[in-house]
Parts: sequence; structure tokens; C-alpha cells
Amino acid sequence: MEEDPTILHCDLNGFFASVEALSHPEVGNRPMAVSGNPDNRHGIILAKNEAAKAFGIKTAETIWQAKRKCPQLILIRASRGKYEFYSQKVNDIYSRFTDRVEPFGIDESWLDVTHSRKLFGDGKAIADKIRALVKSELGLTVSVGVSFNKTFAKLASDMKKPDATTVVMRSDLEDKVYPLDVSALLYVGKNTAAALARMNIRTIGALAAADRRALIRAFGKFGGDLSDRARGLENEPVEYFGHVDEVKSVGNSITFARDLKSPSDVKTGFMRVAEKVCARLKRKNFKCSVLQITIKSASFQTITRQGAFEEPTRLRTDLVSKAMELFDSAWDASEIPVRMLGLSACSLSDSSSPVQGRLDFSSASKDGIADLKKQQNAQDAFFNVREKFGSGSIKFGSMMDGDLLE
Ligand SMILES: [Mg+2]
Repeated sequence: MEEDPTILHCDLNGFFASVEALSHPEVGNRPMAVSGNPDNRHGIILAKNEAAKAFGIKTAETIWQAKRKCPQLILIRASRGKYEFYSQKVNDIYSRFTDRVEPFGIDESWLDVTHSRKLFGDGKAIADKIRALVKSELGLTVSVGVSFNKTFAKLASDMKKPDATTVVMRSDLEDKVYPLDVSALLYVGKNTAAALARMNIRTIGALAAADRRALIRAFGKFGGDLSDRARGLENEPVEYFGHVDEVKSVGNSITFARDLKSPSDVKTGFMRVAEKVCARLKRKNFKCSVLQITIKSASFQTITRQGAFEEPTRLRTDLVSKAMELFDSAWDASEIPVRMLGLSACSLSDSSSPVQGRLDFSSASKDGIADLKKQQNAQDAFFNVREKFGSGSIKFGSMMDGDLLE
């Protein structure tokens, strides 16, 4: 039998709060939380430090609720750029051990270190080295799971926090994994867990023992996938760092009839492209975790930039705001007018896999998750009309203007 791969899942502990603690040393050991807009009582807590945790402050509760538990709570406004900076630094450290580093959101990455073992020792030794480096170089702590596939490496990284290494081998499944609640498994959210409970499946062991065909009947393709994950059969590769899988990405580009010279032109341009990309994502029932933009000038200067979403999405507004953020940090349209814009939605996941909840910095509110669902439904309905009646039948409100297209 071929030897098992060695996969690591590295999960930064309390990432936003830890980064803010570094840049706000004056906070010290006082309770502190990171939030969207601290002036909005209905804004929600995105992260908290250990001292705040001791007061019972929870992620996703409102600032108002948190302040009631702890009036002296220090609130710091989330700053995405800072987190992306640290995220890059951490992934650079991971990349010293292998070229297979696949980020999963801003604070988690999978590493395939199978071929690094000769150089650096076994999975646990590599995990311990990584923890020491991240701590000494960046002042952050990370929990690392070590296993033979991505699913169980992720599960293992959740088992002990903060600053810990947890190993789950095949021989550990029976004792360590199968007794766990099914919701500990990757992609099993609240809804899936509830649906599984109705089938009397409450633990990962019960899921592994369940009839795969019954799961497919209940959940479609996703059901077969869950069964495979629980039984340790998942063997998805860890992608190379910075890699965009052509097959697994959905992209479109538009060459415009005239040069785009202002941010509002560029935004309109991205909206056009995003509309095509989102329609295709919807058709394939995918969401994306990473967005790549391509910018080309009339004189064929070309650059690409990539950024990750906090949670998988196929909302056009998410794609456009991420695209603008990447664009703004890379290109000045008033200096070099733009002729072509491209978007690729990458790191695609099946939409039927439930989103665990999501925290949007700009409109972070208690209803944010319900809102998101509403927005998603509205957009899907929009594309349904379009598919039925053609693209002239209905337009996004913001897309009426149009001298941009040939
Ligand atoms: Mg984390």
C-alpha cells in the first residue's frame, strides 16, 4: 500500500483580535473586540481577545449585547488591509516548507508536506516548527492539524486551541473522530446537521456507517461527498500557492469600446463582467472563495491580482467590491486608461454546501446572514428570469448606462 500523504491544516487563533493586539499594545490585557463600525450599536462583534472571552463576549453578537456584558469593552474597527498583510506573511512562512499551500479564507491554509518530510521531519515536527516560526516572527499563534487528507487535517486543527498541534492518523479515527458531532466535519453546517439528525445521523461515525445511496437521495451529490469525507476517502489535492485552477475557475473578460479612465467607469466595467461570471456560477451552482482580476491597457500592459473572500460567495456586489479593492491597490486608471477587464472566480465550492455564517465588515449586523440569503435569492431569481426570457428582459438597476460596450 502506498504511504499516506501528510496534510497540515493551519488555523490562526483569533486572527483579527491577535493582529489588533499587536498594533494596539496599549490594550494590554483589557477586554477588546474587533467590530465593523464601533459607533453602530447594532454592529456585530467579529473577533475578541481572551479577556473579552472571559466576560462571555461572543462572535456575531451585537455591540450592544457585548457592551451590556462588559461596559469597559474596548472596540476596534476591523481593517481588512492589515489582516491581508499578515495573512500573506503567514503564508510566506508556510511556503518555506512546501510549494503546496492552499489558503482557505484569510486565516486558514492547507499544506501538503508529504515530500518535505525528508528535509524537515514528520508532520508533527513540521507543524511544531511552523508554530514556533509564526510566533517568533509575527507574534501570532496557530493551531495545526496533521492528517492524511484535508478534511481530517481541518478537523484536527479545531481539536486543540490555541497554539497546538493535533495529529489524526487512520488508526485514530475510531477513537478520536467517529464519536465527534457530525457538525465538526468540513461543510456540515447547521442545516445539514439538522437534516442528518432527522436521519438519525448525529456523529461522524454514524455518517461514515450510513448508506451512501441514502445520503445521495437526501442531499444529491453533496451527500455522496459527505459520506466519502466521513469515511476518510476524500483525497483532494492541496493546490500550489498562488495557483488558479483553470478547470475549477469561472472567468470572463470584456474589451471595452473606449478607454476607462475613472473609478466609476472601472466599477461599471467590473459590474458588467461580474454579471457574466455570476450567471455562470449560478448555472453551475458554485460559489467562489478567491477572485482574480486581470487589467489590460490599450497598449497591452497587463497585470493580474488575487484576493480571498472571508466566505464563499457568488454575489455580484461581493465580486465587484473585491475587484475594486484589488484594482485600487494596483492600478491608477487616470494614469493608464484601461481597455480590458477580466474576472476569474476561483477556489470554487458547491453552493449546496452550507455557508457557516458570514461576517461582512461593511454591513456587519445581526441580520447580516439572513440579508445575505435574501440577496442571494434575489440575484438567483434575477438570473432565472434572464435564462428564461433572454438577456434583454431584465437588467441590474445599476447597469442601465452603457456607452462602454461595443
Ligand atoms: Mg482562525
